[in-house]
Amino acid sequence: MQIVNVDIQYLSPPPAIKYCKKCGKKTEYVCSGLFRVNAQRKYLDIWLIYKCSNCDSTWNMTIYSRINPKSIASEILEGFHSNNGELVEKYAMDTELIQKNGAEVGLPKYKIRGPAIDFSMPIELHIKSPYPSRLKVSALLREILNLSQKAFEQRITNESIRSASGLDLKKCRIQTEVVLIIEN
Ligand SMILES: [Zn+2]
Repeated sequence: MQIVNVDIQYLSPPPAIKYCKKCGKKTEYVCSGLFRVNAQRKYLDIWLIYKCSNCDSTWNMTIYSRINPKSIASEILEGFHSNNGELVEKYAMDTELIQKNGAEVGLPKYKIRGPAIDFSMPIELHIKSPYPSRLKVSALLREILNLSQKAFEQRITNESIRSASGLDLKKCRIQTEVVLIIEN
């Protein structure tokens, strides 16, 4: 069996989807790359700022609420003050944090990176993602294998494409790694 690795590269952090009061509907909020740090007496509040992609309204996603500054390493605290890019990415990519803040995690823009695949042999395909996202495995597979919706469904039914761990390939979303068996 030929093992093929394909990497999903995200071109942006996922948008947070939430209700925008100004727009009067759910919209995509995009990470601004900026933190807001607010000192209140002995405590700090730290947020990551998002903007409605439609009207620019801001939304502060809570990272820390009323935390003792001494409990954060000074270089990390400095990172919050200086909007350190790696620190922004760490929190912007934290899909659990976005959900904990009451927003849904939107679809990030992405690219599929991998070798040309020889489909004449059975393949064990590993799709790797830096973090779980809402991207559907079916959409990725159709793009990688260049299959129509109908052809894809036929191949799921006849099990010439199947998940090595028993995932429902019509529904499941990408995890950090999904392993598929692909036969002719
Ligand atoms: Zn808006």
